Amino acid sequence: MPIDPTAPYDDDNIFAKILRGEIPNTTVIETEHSLAFHDITPQAPTHVLVIPKGAYVSFDHFASEAGEAEIIDYVRTIGQVAQMCGVDLGEGGGFRLISNAGRDGVQEVPHLHVHVLGGRGLGRMLQPA
Ligand code: AMP
Repeated sequence: MPIDPTAPYDDDNIFAKILRGEIPNTTVIETEHSLAFHDITPQAPTHVLVIPKGAYVSFDHFASEAGEAEIIDYVRTIGQVAQMCGVDLGEGGGFRLISNAGRDGVQEVPHLHVHVLGGRGLGRMLQPA
């Protein structure tokens, strides 16, 4: 179910539980402010989720409320994940970043996450409605 975009941050969301160590994950990299782990239902050979450790619902929430150190760490971690997974332009065939937000973005987990997808041709960005 898509999330309610007007709801406050939900401490019981699945990524909050992963951050608290209550649910296992397959970590790719952990930094001071960010965690990257494999998606449980991969849609491509590379499908990694990158989340900030702070309680941010969506990209716009993070962009307006996070501190500079968190933002720098998060952006650099996403780039590192692309490199580590061998999909960056230096090594691989490229990648796609997706961050679904709210109802129209069909966001299922109400904690900011960027999907890093690659390892095969990903087709056009959106299917016609
Ligand atoms: P979104 O629709 O953008 O909110 O994507 C949520 C993503 O979280 C989906 O791709 C799920 O497969 C993924 N997901 C849900 N639970 C877990 C979990 N426990 N570990 C890893 N990925 C998960």
